[in-house]
Amino acid sequence: MARPSRLSFALFACAALFSSATAFADGDTQPARDPKQPVDEAYTAKIQKYTTAPYFSSPLVDYLPASKNVPTPEVVLGDIAGAPGILPYAEDVYKYMRLLEKATPRVKVFSIGTTEEGRQMIAVAVSSESNLKNLEQNHQRLAKLADPRTFQLNDAEADKLVAESVPVYYITGTIHSPETGAPTALMELAYRLAVDDSPYVRDIRDNVITLITPVVEVDGRDREVDIYKWHLAHPKDFYPPLIYWGKYVAHDNNRDSMAVKLKLTENVLNTYVGWDAQVLHDLHESVPYLYDNTVGDGPYNAWVDPILVDEWQMVGARNVADMTKFGMPGVFTHGDFDTWSPGYLMFIAAMHNGISRLYETFGNDGADTRERTLEPDEYARTWYRANPPLPKALWSQRNNNNYEETGLLTTLHYFSDNRRMFLKNFYLKSKRSIEKPTTEGPAAYVLPSDDPRSTVQADLLRVMLKQHVEISRATSAFTVALPPKKEKKPKPGESEEKPKAAAPTSRSFPAGSYVIRMDQPYSRVADALLDYQYWSPDDPQKTPYDDTAWTFGEMFGVQVARVTDSKVLNVPMERVTELPAAGGIQGDGSLFAIDNHAEPALATLRYRLKGASIDAAEEPFRVADRKFNRGTFLIRSANRADLDAAAKSLGLRVVALSSAPNVKTHPVRAPRILYIHTWISTQMEGWWRLALDDLQIPYDYASTQALAKIPDLNAKYDVILFPPVGWNSSSTTIIDGLPTNWGNPLPWLNTPQTPNLGKVDSTPDMRPGLGWEGVAKLQDFVAKGGVLLTSTDTSQFALAIGLGNGVTATKSDKMKIVGAIVGTRLVDPASPIVYGYDEKVSAYCDNDPIFSVNSLLWSHRRRLDSDSNNRPTGRGTKDDPDYVVGRIATEIPEQPEHQQWEVPIPTDEQRDNNPRVIPPTDRARIVLRYADSKDLLISGLVENGGEIAQHPAVVDVPSGNGHVVLFSINPIYRGETENTYSLVLNTLLNFDNLNAGRKNEDK
Ligand SMILES: [Zn+2]
Repeated sequence: MARPSRLSFALFACAALFSSATAFADGDTQPARDPKQPVDEAYTAKIQKYTTAPYFSSPLVDYLPASKNVPTPEVVLGDIAGAPGILPYAEDVYKYMRLLEKATPRVKVFSIGTTEEGRQMIAVAVSSESNLKNLEQNHQRLAKLADPRTFQLNDAEADKLVAESVPVYYITGTIHSPETGAPTALMELAYRLAVDDSPYVRDIRDNVITLITPVVEVDGRDREVDIYKWHLAHPKDFYPPLIYWGKYVAHDNNRDSMAVKLKLTENVLNTYVGWDAQVLHDLHESVPYLYDNTVGDGPYNAWVDPILVDEWQMVGARNVADMTKFGMPGVFTHGDFDTWSPGYLMFIAAMHNGISRLYETFGNDGADTRERTLEPDEYARTWYRANPPLPKALWSQRNNNNYEETGLLTTLHYFSDNRRMFLKNFYLKSKRSIEKPTTEGPAAYVLPSDDPRSTVQADLLRVMLKQHVEISRATSAFTVALPPKKEKKPKPGESEEKPKAAAPTSRSFPAGSYVIRMDQPYSRVADALLDYQYWSPDDPQKTPYDDTAWTFGEMFGVQVARVTDSKVLNVPMERVTELPAAGGIQGDGSLFAIDNHAEPALATLRYRLKGASIDAAEEPFRVADRKFNRGTFLIRSANRADLDAAAKSLGLRVVALSSAPNVKTHPVRAPRILYIHTWISTQMEGWWRLALDDLQIPYDYASTQALAKIPDLNAKYDVILFPPVGWNSSSTTIIDGLPTNWGNPLPWLNTPQTPNLGKVDSTPDMRPGLGWEGVAKLQDFVAKGGVLLTSTDTSQFALAIGLGNGVTATKSDKMKIVGAIVGTRLVDPASPIVYGYDEKVSAYCDNDPIFSVNSLLWSHRRRLDSDSNNRPTGRGTKDDPDYVVGRIATEIPEQPEHQQWEVPIPTDEQRDNNPRVIPPTDRARIVLRYADSKDLLISGLVENGGEIAQHPAVVDVPSGNGHVVLFSINPIYRGETENTYSLVLNTLLNFDNLNAGRKNEDK
């Protein structure tokens, strides 16, 4: 591989000073060290030693410039960045960054918030002394470019600002804790940017503010380092997998940028927007050797500005070009990552007029040097990967750091060279976001003030505020024109004369309705989150990388109107920065009613008002002119002031009644909850835990192992929640766990050696699962009257251990519902599980299990086919009974017909001497079902949805004295599915009255 010689440095110096008519015709500063600056020889020797082959390095990082006053990472690490066996805790990384700050005016460290567990997050700014001195003035210019309304979208003014401004390039490291290389790479990068006097690095230092958050998932980093240290102390043993990263979720911490439920997302988002940065570049490690998946693959997110798409191509292609010229193998930018979902951390930039970027480099999950053998598809030469990775190579953390730093330095240099264009683009994207109502639409989204689910509406609006979206409130009622509905042409064979009600041409909204104007700088993120998604089954991309839909109005279950009529922008309105509390008590009386609209806050209230006696109405009722839903809370013996304060803080509207309505009720009690998790994965359940914690619903948290050891579950608990496990966990996996007949115990314990483990839960050995003893305990708990609630894979597990008589679950290969939103329908509105819901419920679905129900054990029902025909070939027409010559025609006995979601009533023939017939009181009660095929798709990708259409989605099965409530859907997911939270919460609050409103068949 060719490296620039000393001679070419000399030539370059001339080129830079006099003209570009030299060896470097393109005028670029060449990447190479400054021969006049001394090198830190010892550090450089170690770089060479730890790099496993010369082509895994570059002229940008194969040396370290020496400095008299600035310490190298070695002072904190005890060795160089990327050294084998060295993995610093976040605090050590911060310590080094603060040493840099002390030693040089070119580095400043900022605290950007804390994590769920109270650890600090930081951002480190590296730039020239003068850039950092003028940080505030520069930021004022960037803020104007970010919101060009401040200068009336004046292009000439923008050009002036662009010429005077220094852009901000924000780099974030190690959000994924087992991807361990970034912190040391970023320590060394900060040093290089502050110290290196080569023209190449000086360019960057003088023209860009590099902002670095070296550790994004701080809680997870510290646990990962614990495990690595344990591994170094037990080199021959298997080391425990990182079961917890952050307090709540693992890998999904990089899917939180829509709902912003995690601190790390909020802190990075606020830093990105607060600095008015131009780029957010997130570092990962799962692909050899550097996959700049910025360009990725289609389909691209349909809401991003095409200017951004163009920028992706530019930065991606240039990155590959530069590193290819260094002779570094395995650098590419196209691949199998589609750029559809806006849930990734980097997408904060894409949704806020910046540039989103992501590197996948190669890592060893720790700092061991290992021989790595790749899969054929990883080392194959393809059209986009002309110099692929090697099939087999010795790989070190230093190699990883070389790639990360080289990639970042070349890209920072390219960015610095083209900073005017990128700053101008930043302005243009902001300007075009503001011009959205006239150039592309819509004009606004409106959330009506009379939405009955006001607390959920407030939660959705809070997401918008977190996203820095401006919200206004109309001060009077208003009406907007609706886009004209296209008349559907009748299909061949359809009657043309069907009289149709004329489509409404306008819609009115009451005063106080929320208006999200699209003439604001961050209109794009609001538009992307509130709009609908359509993923064509014919899309050439056959493996969506993540969810295909997220439509927040549907996922939250609140009304969101997309308004194209630009007159909406003239409606008198006021900016809202805080959501007004809408709750509290109205009227006089000692009985208090809260109408049930399936708002999760109801459950919070139940737990908060421990002493109050609360009943649920089992039927809808009226008081004066007011209608109340099934499940309405009727609160007696509550202190009015306490209730008023609680209702106000939760946003719940309470009506005081002078007399009790004449309606059947049952008590709503706060159950004692046991929440169980496996040691296989905590990713899916983490979102449930976060939701319950947010709602302040207390629970005991125990692993499947611990459950088996609780002597009397019923004495301690009313409900067991078993959220989804993920990883397509089978029942065998849940019961057996990892094998214990080989290998060593895998401890997850808080010890002096591993001070960050064992906080959420702990075990001396992660391997054992629930075990058969645990299975028996669960069965016994339900038999004795407990309620077990399961979802997706844990529902399949419950069925596999014989809970849920008459329900079967299958998985389909043909069906493709990939993280989509589907329609479901209420089947039994009298079930307490669906209190407060309307007939149509939108739900998140991800190829969920297909439930079938029967009144006979061990039978699996086939879908009824409306076209099927029992009559054989014979005389007469299709509808005539069959006719046998020489015999009087007999009436065919009528067979009962059942819908797909219904439990069929057994026929007399079936009931005859048949112990497999489930008694009517023990049969499954179908609460919610999937919509008909034609109504299934609401948003995203639904292909061959007919397989799950009409099948049960939530089933309540009596079992012994208890119940098993089986969810086919996952109702609590990524903080985005608030619409279905109350299906779980209702089950909790009505745990001892789930049979309310149940009708049993006679036979
Ligand atoms: Zn990752």
